[in-house]
Amino acid sequence: MRYAILGDIHANLAAFEAVLRDADRRGGFDKIWCLGDVVGYGPDPHECIELLRQHEHICVAGNHDWAAIGKMDTSDFNPVAAQACHWTSEQLTEEDVDYLKSLPLSIGQGDFTLVHGSPREPIWEYVLSIEAAEVNFAHFETAFCLVGHSHVPLIFEYTDNAAAYKGFPGGMNLKLEGTRLIINPGGVGQPRDGDPRASYAIYDADARTVHHYRVEYDISATQNKMEERGLPLPLIERLNEGW
Ligand code: ZN
Repeated sequence: MRYAILGDIHANLAAFEAVLRDADRRGGFDKIWCLGDVVGYGPDPHECIELLRQHEHICVAGNHDWAAIGKMDTSDFNPVAAQACHWTSEQLTEEDVDYLKSLPLSIGQGDFTLVHGSPREPIWEYVLSIEAAEVNFAHFETAFCLVGHSHVPLIFEYTDNAAAYKGFPGGMNLKLEGTRLIINPGGVGQPRDGDPRASYAIYDADARTVHHYRVEYDISATQNKMEERGLPLPLIERLNEGW
């Protein structure tokens, strides 16, 4: 079985479609494992939910998914994120809302735990530092934990009772061995590691590998739609820089 691991799609349909095409070219996948924030920021929230639901998949809830359905208020969002969130909530169908409402905070799948932020604090916490990673290794039971939220691809490894940071560059084929790992495949719809290409991974359960891929997509198509829909300029511009 092969699983496409997609985090932070953020209503960016062009990026989502490019990732699915790329995954097909690279041997295909049986199921999508989605790490939340399907909506928020981007111009196509309904279309992204619809496309995700056309595939066999599992998905956890992200902070933007909750905010878009009023399950959480946006007082902790920065002003442009809050503005995009209000616009997003007006685009969702009743069915979309029910779907987002149904998303769990955490899902266990064999050796993996899937969450949006962190296993300790699935909606809000960023796992970006060794300190945050170290604490979080105590908050999941499985060998591996998949996280999103920061939109930064990375790996933390737990060895000798301590967490260590390992990079997760595009093209890397990570072999799963004995050590426990926290893995972030990066963001599909709004990468934030300085590389504007969409970021995702494929877990091959037979080969026991997690392969990280970067994919070019039509950034200007997404930006033009955002402009048409009156979404905030900083959200449009950041897609060029990948931050
Ligand atoms: Zn996000």
